[in-house]
Amino acid sequence: MVAAIGSARRGASVILLEKNEKLGKKLYITGKGRCNLTNDCDEEDFLKNVPSNPSFLYSAIYGYNSRYVMVFFESLGVKLKVERGDRVFPVSEKASDITKALTKELARLKCKVETNTKVTGIRIDNGKVIGVNTGTGFIETDAVIIATGGLSYPSTGSSGDGYKFAKGAGHEVVEPTPALVPLKSSEEFIPELAGLSLRNVDLSLFASGKLVFRDFGEMLFTHTGVSGPLILSASGHYKDGTAEIKIDLKPALDWNELDKRVLKDFDENKNKQFKNSLDALLPSKIIPVVIEKSAIDPEKKVNEITRAERERLISAIKAFDLKVDGTEGFSQAVITAGGVALNQINPSTMESKICSGLYFAGEVLDVDALTGGFNLQIAFCTGFLAGEAASEAVLKAKT
Ligand SMILES: Cc1cc2nc3c(=O)[nH]c(=O)nc-3n(C[C@H](O)[C@H](O)[C@H](O)COP(=O)(O)OP(=O)(O)OC[C@H]3O[C@@H](n4cnc5c(N)ncnc54)[C@H](O)[C@@H]3O)c2cc1C
Repeated sequence: MVAAIGSARRGASVILLEKNEKLGKKLYITGKGRCNLTNDCDEEDFLKNVPSNPSFLYSAIYGYNSRYVMVFFESLGVKLKVERGDRVFPVSEKASDITKALTKELARLKCKVETNTKVTGIRIDNGKVIGVNTGTGFIETDAVIIATGGLSYPSTGSSGDGYKFAKGAGHEVVEPTPALVPLKSSEEFIPELAGLSLRNVDLSLFASGKLVFRDFGEMLFTHTGVSGPLILSASGHYKDGTAEIKIDLKPALDWNELDKRVLKDFDENKNKQFKNSLDALLPSKIIPVVIEKSAIDPEKKVNEITRAERERLISAIKAFDLKVDGTEGFSQAVITAGGVALNQINPSTMESKICSGLYFAGEVLDVDALTGGFNLQIAFCTGFLAGEAASEAVLKAKT
């Protein structure tokens, strides 16, 4: 949509082809329906949040930074607000307002929008785009912008068609993999913890015994594993096979402070059974699992617990461990890593270096970012750049 707007504003006549019955189906579910459309940060900070291939985005982000995107949406009548972590949302908290604003602007610019129209192939002649095939026929064009998204949440329309088109035009595609994705765990206690959300925990991910990720924040247990902001960020560091997560459930207290706190709680509950002594310390759902990990008899009287047993309890709280054995895959991945290889694309225009008139924008490219509005910012800045560059090239060729 943004690529079409960029093109039309520069004077090109534009047709937007969308295979769904409506535009922006994925946008509706972004930011839990609130659409975290960008991050109010400077270009340098933006690039720090793009772990793969940030340098490819220099022209796009310096040309159309988050301020540009914010001014763009405000000029379309969408009031914005900035929340924690510089995340930008519509004041209305409705992702649908973003789609509505874009749809209105497309109409104002007289872009021809054809929904329920699936592109089935790109037609190329002598190294130059000549048009696209759709389910119902051939549309002749001077340029084509592929903005078909990745493979995640395929129910929204992003089912990887763009990769086929790119390959058909001679492009290499870096194998797409699910990213920002919940992790699976077959630990027996997982179903018992489903729905439990943990705030202010310190989480470490180990692969082959090596620490590959550590951060502080929020996570949650699902029926099949773990999810939430910390896990989505950690997932970028998970490769195939088994990995281990260790959660410090009480990061504000070091070992000795926690020991003192437990002693105090034990003192207050000395005649109770161990299983009934942890209510003030931990969320109730996790207590039986922590008890199991501590290998202390749950029926034991608190005043009979030995020092060695107490140390095992502290260990179970400061390093609550679980094995991870996979990801939830594309159906639940927020984004797709990998995509159309960047060395065959001109970063100043987003045009293919091997097929004239063919442009790419958004998640179909081999760039991806962390959570915080950075992925939509990538889609917007590459969309504006591709749209304007395509328009200029086409109009120049005609004069
Ligand atoms: C649950 C969820 C929440 C998210 N929340 C955020 C967030 O808050 N902030 C953020 O920055 N990012 C978020 N993202 C990521 C962000 O939505 C994507 O990175 C972004 O939408 C990519 O934009 P795109 O235009 O490249 O692709 P898409 O948004 O996937 O759009 C591609 C479009 O192309 C159409 N299409 C595909 N193939 C064809 C074809 N052959 N013919 C015609 N049309 C076709 C599809 O139907 C689709 O409408 C979220 C993602 C998910 C899944």
